[in-house]
Amino acid sequence: MTAREVLDGIKARLAAATPGPWFQGREGMRYEDTRDVYTEREVSATSRDIGRIDYPEDAAFIAAAPVDVARLTRAIEDVLELHQPEKRWMPYEGADVSYDTEQDAREAAEDYELGAVALEGVAENGHPFFEVCGHCKTVEEGACEGECTKELGYLTSLWPCPTVAAIENALNPKEGQ
Ligand SMILES: [Zn+2]
Repeated sequence: MTAREVLDGIKARLAAATPGPWFQGREGMRYEDTRDVYTEREVSATSRDIGRIDYPEDAAFIAAAPVDVARLTRAIEDVLELHQPEKRWMPYEGADVSYDTEQDAREAAEDYELGAVALEGVAENGHPFFEVCGHCKTVEEGACEGECTKELGYLTSLWPCPTVAAIENALNPKEGQ
């Protein structure tokens, strides 16, 4: 399962639940530190659902959950939206330069003296590519003012970047973690 699928499951459960905010109270009135959690599935002063929880701290956690979960989900989605994979095209397998488009890689290949093996691979499979994070790659380029656009510059932004890997790992931990 991917982080996206885990997030979609969380959002589906959130959407199916009574919309927040929920609140703690007593006899329908709002009070802090009570064990009763109210929701309003139908907006009406007389039709409130109530859940009685053993501890006020647990009631506070549950009452806050719809808003908290929505905010956290949104934050993760915004970060994932920022960090997207993009392809870097190489003129041949193992080349030490790459290009934004396959077309650029093809034109560059014509300028290289290529061995027969490299040329055969390109003829059969098209130009090879690797993936970097579009956002982290930009950070790398900015940090060294465009001087690190050679391939070494991509080493720390190979896809998935550390940011996306951390989110994937947290939302979908491997067994034993
Ligand atoms: Zn990234």
